[in-house]
Amino acid sequence: MHNNPALPWYRKLHIQVFIAMLLGAFVGKLGDGAVLPYIDWIGTIFVRLLRMMIVPLVFASIVSGVASVGGGRTLGRLFSKTLGYYVLSSTLAVLVGLVVVNVLKPGLGADFGAAASQTLPELSTPSSPLDLLIDMVPLNVVSAAANGDMLSLILFSILLGASIAVLPEKPRSTLMGVVDAFFQAVMKMTSWIIMILPLGVFSLIARAVGTLGFEEFKALGMYMVTIATGLTLHLFLVLPLLLMLLGKIKPSIHFRNMLDPLITAFSSSSSAATLPVTMRTVEEKVGVSNKVSSFVLPMGATVNMDGTALYECAGVLFIAQGLGIELTLLQQGTVVLTAILASIGAAAVPSAGLVIIFLVLESVNLRGPQVDLMVGAMLAIDRPLDMYRTSVNVFSDSCGAAIIARSEGETNVDAEVVSG
Ligand code: ASP
Repeated sequence: MHNNPALPWYRKLHIQVFIAMLLGAFVGKLGDGAVLPYIDWIGTIFVRLLRMMIVPLVFASIVSGVASVGGGRTLGRLFSKTLGYYVLSSTLAVLVGLVVVNVLKPGLGADFGAAASQTLPELSTPSSPLDLLIDMVPLNVVSAAANGDMLSLILFSILLGASIAVLPEKPRSTLMGVVDAFFQAVMKMTSWIIMILPLGVFSLIARAVGTLGFEEFKALGMYMVTIATGLTLHLFLVLPLLLMLLGKIKPSIHFRNMLDPLITAFSSSSSAATLPVTMRTVEEKVGVSNKVSSFVLPMGATVNMDGTALYECAGVLFIAQGLGIELTLLQQGTVVLTAILASIGAAAVPSAGLVIIFLVLESVNLRGPQVDLMVGAMLAIDRPLDMYRTSVNVFSDSCGAAIIARSEGETNVDAEVVSG
């Protein structure tokens, strides 16, 4: 860890990033987005650089993490803790979504006609939980990596790490040495990319602000307020409570250590693109070992999406309200369950949460042209909500890593705010 309080304020990364956000918002609005064509490429290159790191980082970090865990017992324990945390935090998120929609009732009086309908992006999403399971096993690991099939890559890396761990001393230490060295090199590259974080954030925020449609905001204002309230409750109340109760961690320290990934998630709307920043920060600032972070974070970026789970549940109930349909308790229960499954199946890329909402809608037989119109209207204003739910997704993964690391006896975790 490198705590460097002597750094002048303007050289601290999170301050540079904040200034970049403000500047980006200002420049994005200049002349109704006239400047965008000149600066858009910076954000595009930045996100491509981050995505370039995903496959080598996930591979190297999981293989070296799992190989260092050693015996199957510890592996099993880490695995159950990780899954336990995912299920707990996602369930709590969905319940928050359920409560806010039932209390604020945004569907009553929403004006779908006034919000311009848009075409949904084409994203492949699994159609059932069984499909998800089958898809996890790659036919060909190279093509899984080439296609960005994260779960397949994770599965392969865990198995490879576990098999290295049980090799005889000589080949084991040779392979571990190579993988560890490779992992360090990949982390170094990541830290270089993070140096241009302010530039990337500047351009991405300018794009987000410059392409917003304010008319749609008015039409679906109450819906936005509802989702934002739910996400805020989860981010600032539920997750901090988990940090305190399960990890004995001061939430304010964790928040401050996690500023860079939070802002990257917010500006890129993609947990996958944010993963390199999350991994580096959780290891270097939060102080979690590679053993734990390599287990919790890559898988978390793909399957543990609290913000998305909350959104699936609240979004479907909102549509039902808008159509004047009263869902029974059993149907609401179905929505809760499928919302969690949908958040597991959603890809960690922009708008994935909205595309996969059809899966949850289907589970309670909500379909037809009116439903399509509503989802199209929701897409028109999805970007800011996507930015917020992605930040919640990433934050929850980091809380999981910190809590599990503490439970594994790592006392250094979030012991102090690490600046730089
Ligand atoms: N954009 C989100 C993410 O990458 C997924 C979603 O659309 O909800 O985490």
